[in-house]
Amino acid sequence: MFADLHLHTLFSDGTYTPDELAGHARRLGLAAVAITDHDSMEGCDWMASACAQNGLEFVPGVELTAELDGYELHLLGYFLDRHHPRLVRELARFQVVRQNRIREMVARLNQLQIPLQADAVFALANCHAPGRPHVARALVQAGFVSCLDEAFDRFLKKHRPAWVPKFKLPAADAVTLVHEAGGLAVMAHPGINHIDHLIPPLVEAGLDGLECFHAKHSTATTEYYLLLADAHRLLVTGGSDCHGLSKGKPLIGTVKLPYDYFARLKAAAPPARSTG
Ligand code: AMP
Ligand code: FE
Ligand code: FE
Ligand code: ZN
Repeated sequence: MFADLHLHTLFSDGTYTPDELAGHARRLGLAAVAITDHDSMEGCDWMASACAQNGLEFVPGVELTAELDGYELHLLGYFLDRHHPRLVRELARFQVVRQNRIREMVARLNQLQIPLQADAVFALANCHAPGRPHVARALVQAGFVSCLDEAFDRFLKKHRPAWVPKFKLPAADAVTLVHEAGGLAVMAHPGINHIDHLIPPLVEAGLDGLECFHAKHSTATTEYYLLLADAHRLLVTGGSDCHGLSKGKPLIGTVKLPYDYFARLKAAAPPARSTG
């Protein structure tokens, strides 16, 4: 039995609906899934019912953008009460800033004589937490670039002309927010961030777990983080970070978190939250 605890839906920059994700998960034989949209939990009600229909355990989650010592890091929250007032407020703030950031990126593109319209990006994104992938897709759709990679490489990557920094919550505040909302706080994909020196201060701030299994972690990287999690007595999570198709195939299920780790995560979650 396996879980995939890192999935994006079209409520952020994923391309699948909750129904599509749950269908894939059932066909792949997964036992449990979590959705972790960037700065949004709007997909959770739909995903909860899709999972119930497909006989899957569901964990409401989120991927928060955070920072520590000037480094960006992604903090996963699991088993959250998505109606917790402060969480609702903070997510709304993230979303307003994301929408303003889209306008700023479009203004920069316009200065480069690329007449993309912000409304075209919002229409395509059709969600409250739009991001760079939506700008990239709008650029492709309008024919200004030939593919998403070209959009990122020419315009949207860090230090490229249409790149606009993102709002980030101080990491300790993000951990506190997750805890206040009844959840567990997990550092996402440490193997792609190269900020291991931040793990001890995050543990100090109350970090609960480490995402040891991830689509971009090699076996050696996963083993390294399993040892690190053990050394810091952190819970272990994992997931594919599926945003939709990758190289023509759905990424969901390509990372299989052994159910034992998921059982330990559930056992650590506050009782009211531990089933879904
Ligand atoms: P944002 O949250 O708006 O900064 O966008 C970050 C998201 O963009 C990541 O979660 C990825 O889904 C996506 N992304 C980042 N770099 C690339 C890239 N080079 N090509 C395609 N997607 C990317
Ligand atoms: Fe993403
Ligand atoms: Fe991430
Ligand atoms: Zn993600």
